[in-house]
Amino acid sequence: MAEMTIQIVTPDGIKCNRKAYYISIKTPDGEMGILPGHVNMIAPLVIHEMKIRDKAEDEHVDWIAVNGGIIEVKDNTVTIIANSAERDRDIDTSRAERAKARAERQLKEAQAANQVDEMKRAKIALERALNRLSVGTK
Ligand code: ATP
Repeated sequence: MAEMTIQIVTPDGIKCNRKAYYISIKTPDGEMGILPGHVNMIAPLVIHEMKIRDKAEDEHVDWIAVNGGIIEVKDNTVTIIANSAERDRDIDTSRAERAKARAERQLKEAQAANQVDEMKRAKIALERALNRLSVGTK
C-alpha cells in the first residue's frame, strides 16, 4: 500500500481530498507520522502545522494549518474534522498578523483584569494566529 486517502473537513467545506504517502499531525500527546496501512485509530488534535508528502522520495512538502479537531484513520483513509484548516498558499498572512496583535492585546487586558476565561480565549486565538503565520510563510 503506497498511498492513503487524506480528507480534511471543516464547517466551510472539504479543505483537502487527495492521496498522500506520508502525513504528520499533532495530538495532545505529541507529533505523530502516519504512513499507508496505519492501524485504525481515532484521536483529538491540537492546533498544529500538518505536513503532507506525496511520495517517499519527494522532497516537496505541503503544509496545512489545522485548528484542532479530530483525526480518524480507518482502512487507509485519514479523515480530519476541524473547526478550520487552511493550506499554506491560502493563508492571508496580514490577516494573521492582525489576529496575532489583537490576541496579544486581549491577553494583556485579560491578565491585567485577572479574567481567566478571557485569558484562555486570547491564548488560543494567539496560537491560531501564530500557527497560520508559520504555515503561511513556509
Ligand atoms: P480572524 O480574527 O482573522 O477572523 P480567527 O482565528 O478568529 O481569525 P477563525 O474563526 O479560526 O478565525 O476562522 C474563520 C474563517 O476564516 C475560517 O474559514 C478560517 O479558515 C478563515 N481564516 C482565518 N484566518 C485566516 C487567514 N489568516 N487566512 C486565511 N483564512 C483564514
